[in-house]
Amino acid sequence: MINTPRIPRALRDRVGEARRVFVITGAGISAESGVPTFRGKQGYWRNHNPLDLASPEGFARDPRLAWEWYLERRARLRRVEPNAGHRALARLERQVEARPGGAMLIATQNVDGLHQRAGSRRVVEVHGSIMRTRCTRTGREFEEGEVTVEGGSVPPISPAGALLRPAVVWFGENVPLEPIGRIQTFLEDPPDLALVIGTSALFGYIIAWALNAKSDGATLVEINPQRTDLGGQAHYALQAPAGQVLPELIPGESPTESPITG
Ligand code: NAD
Repeated sequence: MINTPRIPRALRDRVGEARRVFVITGAGISAESGVPTFRGKQGYWRNHNPLDLASPEGFARDPRLAWEWYLERRARLRRVEPNAGHRALARLERQVEARPGGAMLIATQNVDGLHQRAGSRRVVEVHGSIMRTRCTRTGREFEEGEVTVEGGSVPPISPAGALLRPAVVWFGENVPLEPIGRIQTFLEDPPDLALVIGTSALFGYIIAWALNAKSDGATLVEINPQRTDLGGQAHYALQAPAGQVLPELIPGESPTESPITG
């Protein structure tokens, strides 16, 4: 068990009075819910490296195998719950919104929907959602339940007769403009606090958002048990699991969680 580092008083005060809060989350925040990260020890699936499966090449090579992996991940998500870290962020959103001019945005790289289930309302899914699908021919997206995925043929077929794929951003693909636009619009009014949680921060756009927020005046905080390059540039780098640090940093009552749909 990792001991939670002592949270400096000045940081607690900062969180307690922040009015514009920008949060970036990665796979690490969901690790304590039992959702493995790709790069961690638990990441491998049936001897396959997820970094190979979550790619256009992996899907083209073997769409059935890729879908089997996604279907297992979907099934796992139905069994897991948001953890204390997700809940603390949902709480922070309510606290910040109650302050004059208060606003908070979570930009998550996760595709698991756990922030929304914990009660967070303003969430941008930078890498899409594992529960949505997209037609590889028309590009049309489908919500969960709109097309047969679970219990149907694998790989699933769209109404246009083409392969369906998960509506997520794979390695080597560009992030769609719509989520980027929503994040940039939020950042036009500079945040006073930026939290970067559970990401190895290897993508340039993640680092750029965090460092731009810092240069615009935000206190930059990283929460990750491992050292990252970004941590060296943060005002505070708290090296411990998010599910331990966040409840300490953000005390109070949590909003009611939403049940999983579908
Ligand atoms: P990543 O590169 O962001 O690495 C995960 C990070 O989380 C690591 O730096 C690790 O030290 C940290 N971490 C581990 N446990 C933690 C904890 N308890 N608290 C805080 N930090 C913790 O993520 P990845 O796994 O390599 O995934 C890359 C991409 O794949 C993601 O950006 C995402 O799009 C997708 N992915 C999503 C999920 C999900 O939705 N839950 C899971 C795996 C991968």
